[in-house]
Amino acid sequence: MDQTDLVGRRLLVANACRILGARGLSEDLLGHVSLRTGPDRMLVRCRGPREEGLFLTRPADVREVDLDGDPVEELDGWAVPNELPIHAEILRARPDVDAVVHCHPPSVLLAGLEGVPLRPVFGAYNIPAARLALDGVPVYLRSVLVRRPELGREVVAALGDAPVVLMRGHGIAAVGSGSHAVEQAVVRALALDALARVSLESARLGGKAPELPPEDVAELPDLGGSFNDVMMFRHHLARLRHEGLLLT
Ligand SMILES: [Zn+2]
Repeated sequence: MDQTDLVGRRLLVANACRILGARGLSEDLLGHVSLRTGPDRMLVRCRGPREEGLFLTRPADVREVDLDGDPVEELDGWAVPNELPIHAEILRARPDVDAVVHCHPPSVLLAGLEGVPLRPVFGAYNIPAARLALDGVPVYLRSVLVRRPELGREVVAALGDAPVVLMRGHGIAAVGSGSHAVEQAVVRALALDALARVSLESARLGGKAPELPPEDVAELPDLGGSFNDVMMFRHHLARLRHEGLLLT
């Protein structure tokens, strides 16, 4: 890949990690984002010698490796994440996927642990999140550290052709496709977090909110990737800038 492209993509992945951290989708260190750079390779957030966590990811933390985790470039003291198989096996099994987010949103963790259903109770409040609820969020039932390809393939099986998977007792994986794959995967992770937060609070208040009637569902258009993904991601980049955390 062209070096200029690589520099820009490392920056994109690093800022994506910062957005997830800044918005509370991972506590402390954990989580990573990957971006496909070829049929069998990716840029992925690695662990560096001065590791400070997802929230404070630097472009140098984003390294190019193949789907077996072997370096495409010199790793210079960085190591691939333990859970690389989440990224590698999804990218291997889903040629339509170009980016993968893995993180540990506390809201989704609690909803999964308590079996709080992610029901379609709201609409225009957050259409992408409503859409996730309407389509159903698949669940991977094991709470394991996904550090072997076999476990990665179990996550892939649970994900199916969905945009996100809830990994019970652990976190989530979200995927994105096309020229704004990272943006799409991050925005899907944020939507799942929003759905889980509303579902948790709703359950605390008795869980009696009625589900959306079909005639209201019919009035929830897909506003398209440029609105849902690109504009939303730009908003979160601007928030990082406001907070003094944006990498440029
Ligand atoms: Zn994890």
